[in-house]
Amino acid sequence: MEKRDELYAGKAKSVYQTDDADLLVLAFRNDTSAFDGKKVEQLDNKGAVNNQFNAFIMGKLKEAGIPTHFEKLLSPTEALVKRLDMIPVECVVRNVAAGSLCRRLGVEEGIDLDPPTFEMFLKNDALGDPMINEYHVRSFGWATDAQIEQMKALTFRVNDVLKALFMAGNMLLVDYKLEFGVFHGEITLGDEFSPDGCRLWDRDTREKLDKDRFRQGLGSVVESYQEVGRRLGITFEY
Ligand code: ADP
Ligand code: UDP
Repeated sequence: MEKRDELYAGKAKSVYQTDDADLLVLAFRNDTSAFDGKKVEQLDNKGAVNNQFNAFIMGKLKEAGIPTHFEKLLSPTEALVKRLDMIPVECVVRNVAAGSLCRRLGVEEGIDLDPPTFEMFLKNDALGDPMINEYHVRSFGWATDAQIEQMKALTFRVNDVLKALFMAGNMLLVDYKLEFGVFHGEITLGDEFSPDGCRLWDRDTREKLDKDRFRQGLGSVVESYQEVGRRLGITFEY
């Protein structure tokens, strides 16, 4: 496999073509952003930690039968993935109220959500990733009915697998965002699952161990991601 031209540089990852039209290289950078790119910093080792964290989680999801784009790790900061036609919709499941849900509905952070909620947001930084519903997705042709149902079902299956996984490490999976795409007709999980795109709290103290440490200027951002990895048994290489 040969890495070729850069296709796209996002806020945290760069995407490269390869000599195989079906495969891409994802390079995880140290850039860390919040508030739709308005706050940006470089955090040492964040790219390596997120790449290897994501590889571990994608492996667990594959074992559970969830179709993912992940193929293999190429280096501490790079992974080989299937090239997906991305659906521009962020799928969010929440087990506990936090973040934009609290701001939008005026509810207190930390309330248990039983059953968990499912929300969709349009992936569009210029518009601030507005919340959308299934009708918008259908009317604008971002995904079909069947694809929406599959994304929703897969996002909830990921919840079952990962809630248990994090619970075993004494952590609460508060909420998370997933992105899907289509690979040869099949809805497939893409992008990444890392503490950059989810909320994780220590189960006893409710200490935040995720990107809220960066958003809220709490410090020890990468150290917290490493602590989450340590609790899951991940050994990071740099
Ligand atoms: P953003 O675009 O939100 O700033 P990133 O910096 O993480 O995000 O950039 C990665 C980009 O690559 C995202 O736009 C994401 O949708 C896209 N992407 C992730 N996985 C795949 C894949 N398997 N195939 C094609 N594109 C992907
Ligand atoms: N999220 C994400 N990317 C986004 C928006 C949200 O990864 O562009 C994640 C976020 O880290 C959290 C979940 O999705 O785990 C729900 O985010 P929320 O809607 O509460 O938005 P925020 O408070 O982060 O603006």
